[in-house]
This record gives sequence, C-alpha cells and structure tokens, in this order.
Amino acid sequence: MQRATLLVLLLLSCGRARSVPQEADTHAAAMPRPVPSPATGGSPATGGSPATGGSPATGGSPATTDAGLSEAAFVLVGGSVFGVGKQNLLVDHGQIVAVGVSATASERVVNVSGRYIVPGFIDSHVHLAYYPDGAAELAASGIVAVLDLAAPLSALSVDHAPLRVQNTGPMLTATLGYPLSSWGAAGYGLPVSSPAAAAAAVESLFKASVQAIKVPLTAAPTLDDASVRAIVSAAHKHGLKVYAHALDEKNAARAAADGVDVLAHTPTEALSPETLNAWRTRTVISTLGAFGNSAVALKNLRDLHERGARVLYGTDFGNTRETGVQSLEITALLSAGFDGASIVRAGTSVPAEFLGFTDLGSLEVGKRASFLVLVADPSLDPHTLSQPIAVYVDGLLVSAGL
Ligand SMILES: [Zn+2]
Repeated sequence: MQRATLLVLLLLSCGRARSVPQEADTHAAAMPRPVPSPATGGSPATGGSPATGGSPATGGSPATTDAGLSEAAFVLVGGSVFGVGKQNLLVDHGQIVAVGVSATASERVVNVSGRYIVPGFIDSHVHLAYYPDGAAELAASGIVAVLDLAAPLSALSVDHAPLRVQNTGPMLTATLGYPLSSWGAAGYGLPVSSPAAAAAAVESLFKASVQAIKVPLTAAPTLDDASVRAIVSAAHKHGLKVYAHALDEKNAARAAADGVDVLAHTPTEALSPETLNAWRTRTVISTLGAFGNSAVALKNLRDLHERGARVLYGTDFGNTRETGVQSLEITALLSAGFDGASIVRAGTSVPAEFLGFTDLGSLEVGKRASFLVLVADPSLDPHTLSQPIAVYVDGLLVSAGL
C-alpha cells in the first residue's frame, strides 16, 4: 500500500462556520452543548446548558470559548457515523464531546457530507519489533491501537504514540521451543522448564507491565499441559488473558482444555466439532491473510463464528507488511461469511471491549476522536476501509489523501 503522508490541509472542505446554517438551522434534533471541564478534558455526558457555560460558578477558563470549548474544537458535519447514523460530531480535547449538534460560529467546520465515518481500527495481532517503521505507518492509515503478541522485553518501553499498544512481551515456551529456533531467537521467546518456572515467568512479565500472556503450542519441543495450566492460573490471578499460537487440532484442543482464553490465529488444520465447541464461548484472532487464506482456515473461522466465538480482526502485522486495514484480510473475512458491518465490529467495538481500550471502538460522547473518513459505506463495501480519505487520531488529522 502507498505509504501515508502527513498533511495538514484537507481534501475535505474546511472552513469557518459562517458557511453553514446557524442557530435557526434545520437540525431539529440538535442537542444542548456540553461544557467540558478544561482541567480534566471533561466528561460531558451530563453536560451543562449553554446558559451556564460562562458562569463563574462552573469555573470557566480564559483558554476556552464562551461555550467552554477550546480554539481547536471542530464539528464534523454531514457524515454517516458507523453505529450512530447521520449525525454531526463535536470534537474537542481529542475526544467526542457531543453528537447530533449543529455548528455555530465558534468552531471550525469539517464538511464530510456524503462520507462515512468509522472508529479507528484495532489490530489484535501484530509484531512491531519485527518492523520498527510500522507503528507510524499504522497510525497514519487508520490503525489506532494494537496488541503486540510477542516482542523482546526491551520493546516494552518503546513509545509508539499516537499508536496505542498493549504487549505480551516474549512468548513463554519450552526449552528450544517455537520460536527460539526460528524467527524468534532474538528474545521473542522466554524458555521455561517446569510448571513452577512457568508461573514465575508470568509473575516477572506482570511486573514488567505486560497486558497479556502468549504461549506457543506446537509439535515438540513444546510446553506440557501442567506448564500451560500453571501459566493460565498465574495469568488469571492478575487479570491477564492467555493467548495461544495453536494451529492444529491437537493443540487447539489442549489449549481449550488447559484454560487458554484466545487463539492467536485461526487454526490452519481442520478442527473437530468437539474442539470447535470448546472454543465457542472464547475468542479467536483472524490472521487469515497471513497464512495464505486457506480453505481449511476459512472454514474453521466460519464454524467458530457461527457457534458464537468472539472474533477479533488481526493480521500478524510485522510478519505481514500491508499497512492500514488489510485488503487481504477483508477478502478473507468476507469468504469466511462475515458481512461488512461484522468486519467493522471485529476491528473496533469488539476488540475495544475485549482488550479494555474503553475509550475506543465507537464514536460516542467521551470516546477518543480517532476515526477514518471513507468514500463508501463499509457495511456494503468493506474494502473502502483500506482506502480512507482521511484519518484522525485524538482529534488531529494525521493523514489525508491516502
Ligand atoms: Zn504473530
């Protein structure tokens, strides 16, 4: 994909509010303006009425307008917002501060009439350390948060802002186990030789501030079941979920039996009905494109999805190199029976809730103003997700004209 470029001028038409209807406009559903607290960035959910906005009792700030907004505030006008409908969004302090408002003379207007707005995407399976330039490319192309599912300990301290990153650190694996003898020799795996050592390794990773634990379950040498159960027990004690690289029937089955929470990939070997059922109340990350989009994997994901398993969009980025919402993964998800809306949810609201990115995943009051502007309706044409015409992260335009 063409690399995103940082631009501050828009293809979109921006201008002062004089060009749009004012107070007496036709937005019958216009809502009262909230008055964010400048000190905190504000929870405008309860909002103040405009009549109280300048009252000394509410602590007005000289840095804000008389409506309580900063000079950076803008209204996104005329777009169809995924999960919300055709509503204007008022953006300030990097977040959505009101939905369904009409523009006033106080804020800049960004006209997105006829465009479609979706929340910034979350890729639940990446390896940033494997592709150091990738983080900036992701943020500029619409991926605003990721789960990095294996990296050396030294990578935990790297700041990838504005991209938001959760980490597992190194996989916990057997002595000489995957990936130590292949691509992960340089710190991507941490060998453990007993259940006690495995539990101790979880403790050390927790102290290193990881947000999840990863284990590879493969052909020998690999972790035994007692070690996997010790890892799951230690991780769950700290509220950490355990992700397994388990591509075949045997290892997907024992991952479930040992209490693992998430399949880090859709398995590429056919799963039995028993194993599919064992995973129906759990979670799987798609990564279909990274494994060649095989018919067997497509069937596994279709069967898991139909049984009710939670599906997260993920690409193995780092091993794969297509930035943005990957067209190959969209094609694969469509082949596995997903429709456009369910693809958007697998990359936005579902991982936001599952991973705990509580201020991402939807475009509601109080959520971050991180979103893609699209030319087509992603529910009908999900491939439009790979070609945003603008990307905003925390209320800032980070790319346009991709
Ligand atoms: Zn991976």
